[in-house]
Amino acid sequence: MSAWWVEAFGDPCRSCDYNWSVSLDAAMARVSDSPERYRILLHDHSGRERLPELSWSAKGYVFHVADNLRIWAERLTAASAGATDPITEYDDNLLARARAYEQLPIGAAIWSLHKAVDCWKESVVVADETAVVLNHPRRGALSVLDVVRSNCHDVVHHEWDI
Ligand SMILES: [Zn+2]
Repeated sequence: MSAWWVEAFGDPCRSCDYNWSVSLDAAMARVSDSPERYRILLHDHSGRERLPELSWSAKGYVFHVADNLRIWAERLTAASAGATDPITEYDDNLLARARAYEQLPIGAAIWSLHKAVDCWKESVVVADETAVVLNHPRRGALSVLDVVRSNCHDVVHHEWDI
């Protein structure tokens, strides 16, 4: 596992208790089930609920998780096709503003998460677990397992935020 995430969050994560040694299959299953878990979690809520110490509302986190999975799916697909250039990082707060998360309904966020998970699973299946490596400018060389574990953490951590 790339040490960056463990140093940043702790193992297990100091907030959400995520264990970074999760297997590829278990992490994929947890991401696959996340749209339904999020849907149940936010049932009968507007998604506008927000804790004062957090920067986004509940639905903002759902949109973020969906966008993050979609972006990583594109990165995995690019690497599977032979791309070796370093990953271009994105500013998630700028993306949230550009996409106007807060003006969209929670139903659209859950729908988007469903679609993003489908794309993400496809990209992981296509990636050769033993050969594909992504070059992250701050986190170093990332294996497919590193990516799957970190993407799963994003899903679990923000579920905990919500
Ligand atoms: Zn966490």
